[in-house]
Amino acid sequence: DHHLLQVEHLVKHFPVAGGLVKAVDGVSFSLLPGETFGLVGESGCGKTTIGRTILRLVEPSSGRIVFDGRDLRQLSRSELRRVRRDMQIVFQDPYASLNPRMRIGEAIAEPLVIHGIGNRQSRQEQVAELLRVVGLDPDYASRYPHEFSGGQRQRISIARALALRPKFIVADEPVSALDVSVQAQIINLLADLREQFGLTYLFISHGLAVVEHFCTRVGTMYLGKLVEVAPTRRLFTQPRHPYTQALLESIPIPDPSRRKVRAPLAGDVPSPLAPPPGCRFHPRCPVAVDECRHREPPLRDVGEGHKVACWLAT
Ligand code: SF4
Repeated sequence: DHHLLQVEHLVKHFPVAGGLVKAVDGVSFSLLPGETFGLVGESGCGKTTIGRTILRLVEPSSGRIVFDGRDLRQLSRSELRRVRRDMQIVFQDPYASLNPRMRIGEAIAEPLVIHGIGNRQSRQEQVAELLRVVGLDPDYASRYPHEFSGGQRQRISIARALALRPKFIVADEPVSALDVSVQAQIINLLADLREQFGLTYLFISHGLAVVEHFCTRVGTMYLGKLVEVAPTRRLFTQPRHPYTQALLESIPIPDPSRRKVRAPLAGDVPSPLAPPPGCRFHPRCPVAVDECRHREPPLRDVGEGHKVACWLAT
């Protein structure tokens, strides 16, 4: 298999006054071209840091990131600049990610200008085309961000991310700041673009509900660790990790095919400054056994593309 992205033993520790925040603590996964991989977990689990580290917006502490066959940490600045054209990010907050003083046409064309692509005329044509692609009127190019709704602004951010014709997009909570009625429209747009441009996504979300119909595979993160990975349907119908089970239980839509969990998720997420020993989930786990307090469960393959880090999972 030719993977588009391989993340191997990725670690990101942030030094802070009280010690080290272990934001990402040894995470590995791979994406095939055309896949949409969802990363889910509560805030502070490290999923956003992973997205930023892959794009080199944050420098990893250790580990390997191989994109399209190239080890990103081995590349020179100019090589990295070239590779970065193929990888883009769409942020959660379309209000913060667009410069309020820049006409949206200029904002969309900016990556083309930075990379020296085309001339004024051809860039204007591309902006018009990109606006059409994301479902907006090409005449909007001369307007400013404040003239648009949240959903429209996210479409504009997506158009900007597409300007360099990337292969891979990190979508970091792209619909979390939007009204529920608008969320589905943006997800549908991302799905259409996936078909149209052959995109591969890393889709970061704090909730599982959003990823169910959009992602092909899902990984659950807890305190800097990937604790379960499975094809989406499998993860939703046969979750093996007690934390994934608890996350699924918190989805409001009842589905009788889903396995019932004995107890709802109790307690707060412990500090990533001092993660619990053994299985990091043990203080909140309803089925923890003594071993869980001392030994850390590795992410094990349980078949059918399903991996789980839990001593009790079979
Ligand atoms: Fe719970 Fe133990 Fe499994 Fe961790 S290893 S999820 S504490 S049962």
